[in-house]
Amino acid sequence: MNIILFGPPGAGKGTQAEFIVNRFNVVQLSTGDMLRAAVAQGTELGRKAKAVMDAGELVDDAIILGIIGDRIGEPDCACGFILDGFPRTLPQAEGLDRMLAEKGLGLDAVIEVRVPDSELFARIEKRAAETGGARADDNAETLKKRLEVYHSQTAPVLPYYQEKGMLKTVDGLQAIDAVTAEIMKLLEG
Ligand code: ADP
Repeated sequence: MNIILFGPPGAGKGTQAEFIVNRFNVVQLSTGDMLRAAVAQGTELGRKAKAVMDAGELVDDAIILGIIGDRIGEPDCACGFILDGFPRTLPQAEGLDRMLAEKGLGLDAVIEVRVPDSELFARIEKRAAETGGARADDNAETLKKRLEVYHSQTAPVLPYYQEKGMLKTVDGLQAIDAVTAEIMKLLEG
């Protein structure tokens, strides 16, 4: 099973991805985690990405497509994967379709976790407080930019999947286990 988990920063994609990974034995591919790992390792990619991420902007599509293209070709992805934080632009969605077609793969579902902006601010502030600001982009100012970028560049990806009849939306304001239950029902149904 190959799934996209879609939603704004702070929607709970990472939390839900973990449940899906355990239930369906797929691997979680989070471009945010991959980029943070590159930053932590101080690779050339990490050095390039850091400033962009700290500003709440998006890393270049070609770079992201390269990372994902390499990753989905690895053996552990053969049982399926859940994409978290990717695709984030229309060119990324189109690039993903091309890469999947080349590998003879397809997508089973695109699940949007919908949460209003006002709630996202509250959640990110809480996460920043709980983690002692471990993520440089978890602050009100950068979040504002991340949400702007989400609405202008990422949300336009939704109609792309809607037209393909693949989009399913869940209400991310519910309790975590209620969101999980809804996602499981969609994926099992
Ligand atoms: P969020 O919590 O905002 O969903 P992520 O952990 O997914 O954030 O990503 C953090 C940052 O990494 C983003 O703000 C962006 O700069 C960069 N990033 C992650 N995934 C992508 C992507 N698919 N395309 C471009 N930039 C990305």
